[in-house]
Amino acid sequence: MSEYDPVDPPVALTVAGSDSGGGAGVQADLTAMRAHGVFGASVVTATTAQNTRGVEDVNPLPADHVASQYAAVADDFDVAAVKTGMLATAEVVETVTELVADFNAPLVVDPVMVAATGDRLLSPAAEDAYEDLVAAATLVTPNVDEAAVLTGNPVETPADAEAAGRELVALGADAALVKGGHLSEGAVGEDVVVDTLVRAEGDSESGGPTVDRFETPRIDTDATHGSGCALSSAIAARLARGESVRGAVDVAVEEMTEAVRRGYDVGEGPGAVNPTV
Ligand code: PLP
Repeated sequence: MSEYDPVDPPVALTVAGSDSGGGAGVQADLTAMRAHGVFGASVVTATTAQNTRGVEDVNPLPADHVASQYAAVADDFDVAAVKTGMLATAEVVETVTELVADFNAPLVVDPVMVAATGDRLLSPAAEDAYEDLVAAATLVTPNVDEAAVLTGNPVETPADAEAAGRELVALGADAALVKGGHLSEGAVGEDVVVDTLVRAEGDSESGGPTVDRFETPRIDTDATHGSGCALSSAIAARLARGESVRGAVDVAVEEMTEAVRRGYDVGEGPGAVNPTV
């Protein structure tokens, strides 16, 4: 008989929606976490009936069931990082905000609002409820549309993205990564994606927050389904392994180019990113 020889990785938790098409949501999160050397547990907030063409149906789960899933995980595992994705309703946003209030490890908040296909994944009433969850975040990772909703200002240029990041930090987040994948124009042109990281951690010269910009090549494809989920989960996994926010973001942003370039050409729609590359 061979010796039992288990591995003992850090545990991260995703609190997010299920994508029956497999490309985004909990399915992408757990894949990304495992690819980054972390065991992933999951609290499902909603199930969606969707495929690569779009979302057919959304079924938010009751907030008390979200809470009981969270309690089951927290009761058993030493959770080293939490990532939140699609939270669907104001009740779930509020419940999750209460649940993570006692959590003493990194919290990555991906404020998922609308799918790339334009389908809503968050009820409009829940947008205001996000303020307290953002304030509790180690890192909040909005795309430009979500950053605009959270700050109340349009985000159309890299300068707007930096201003939005500063605003989210002023709201209480330790750091904000404003993802520029949806910005088509900017001082730096159309061939690059500019992601802006603002950290509350002081800049010794200016005395204000620290700003870093990450520029990566833009890949010419519509198959970016799951990119936000995979990115925020890769960052959460790296934080669970003890990396810094700056270090985790740097690696995860760099790898996302490859995850898009080597995406999965599955289904009749545009496919999905590949969180395992
Ligand atoms: N979560 C779920 C359950 C989804 O279905 C989607 C998109 O359809 C998202 C999150 C957001 O996906 P993305 O990573 O493309 O932002």
